[in-house]
This record gives sequence, C-alpha cells and structure tokens, in this order.
Amino acid sequence: MRLPIVREIVASTDPNLTPHVEREDTVTWTLSANGSFSIRTAWQALRTNGPEVFWFNMVWHRWHIPRWSFIQWLALLGRLATKDRLRVWGLVNDTSCVLCQGGSESHSHLFFDCPFTSINWEVVKAKCGFVLPSRDLMDEIHWGLIHCKDCSIQSRLFKLCLAASVYYIWKERNGRIFQQIGHDSTSVVRLILEEVKASMTSWRHVSRSATNICLILEWGLSVDLLCTV
Ligand SMILES: [Zn+2]
Repeated sequence: MRLPIVREIVASTDPNLTPHVEREDTVTWTLSANGSFSIRTAWQALRTNGPEVFWFNMVWHRWHIPRWSFIQWLALLGRLATKDRLRVWGLVNDTSCVLCQGGSESHSHLFFDCPFTSINWEVVKAKCGFVLPSRDLMDEIHWGLIHCKDCSIQSRLFKLCLAASVYYIWKERNGRIFQQIGHDSTSVVRLILEEVKASMTSWRHVSRSATNICLILEWGLSVDLLCTV
C-alpha cells in the first residue's frame, strides 16, 4: 500500500465491512440520494451558503430568466461595474450617465433615478397594470414583496418586467459605452416587452380570472394559456 490515497481509503473503511466477492465494484456519489453524480450536488458541497436575503423570491422565482435575474441580483447587491465604482478604483474619471447625459452614473441613478430609465420602467410597469411612479430598485422590491406574493399573471409580470428592465437598461448602457450603439427609450421599452411576452408563452397553470384574461389580451397572447377548469 504505497499510495497514500489507498492507505487513506483503507483506514477510513469500516473494519467490520465484509466485501461481496461475487459482485462488481461500483462507484457511488454519496452526496446524492440515488448515488449518481450531479453538478447540483457537487456545487452544493463546494459552495459556502450565506444567509438568504429577504428579497430572494423576488429575483429567483419559478418564472425567472437566469440572465435577467443574475444582473438584477448584482444590481441589488450594488456589484455592477458602474462608473462611480470604477472611479473609486481609479479606472475612469468621467462618471456621466450615457443614458441621460445629465446625471452621475451609480446603481441608484440607473435603477431608477435616471430620467431615461425611470420613464422606461413606468411604461413597462403600467403594462403590468400598475400605474405608479418609478421608485428606487430596492423600493420596488419592497413594494413587490407586499403586492406581488401570489401566482397571478400580474405578480409574475411585475417580477419579470422588473428583472428585464434592469437587464436591458444595463445592456443599453453597455452598448452605448463599448459599441457606441444607442437606442431611444421607445425601442428599449419595446424590446423589454417583446422579451417578457416571449417568456410568457411558456407559462402554465394560469387561472381563468377576469384580471388574468384582461392581461393576456392586453399582452396580445392567446387565452389558451389559461387553465380550462
Ligand atoms: Zn442617467
């Protein structure tokens, strides 16, 4: 037993174990219930679990789009590489917002103090049936936690539209900075609504309530999405 790994395995083996000489050896992944390897169980074993944030379900809900939620998650943690942070790191001097040309770029400015983004978000939010002024991203999360707790289309839409708005605003900002390609507010809103609508077509178990029927028709989708019972 020259190999340390073999000595280690032997040392950790139950001395009362009686090998079954007629059966083949098999490899078992002990971290999963069925003994099969999975990326999920490996990741769970490797990662360090932090405390769950109170807004977890507003971002990582059943209907979330991973790339939207990821950017929204970074935005809520204040971890996007906004110009105010880049200036602290000595990487830029100019912090002017490329979306409105008037403000200084930070998380709170982009989501949604900026005139460009606040108008966008108000229009998108109205499409969810909520005609309300735009608020700071975290305030929107707080509001959503109170008013969008159920599985109704309106609640699903609010969560998805908020994530999509953060994602496409960040994408528009990056496009203007890195590719010198910009779109007007109407185009950005249209893109957000088109992408959210596309994701809605996969929804199931939507109850046939009057509000849900109105929203389905408002978004130009088929009432076939609604449950028949
Ligand atoms: Zn701005």
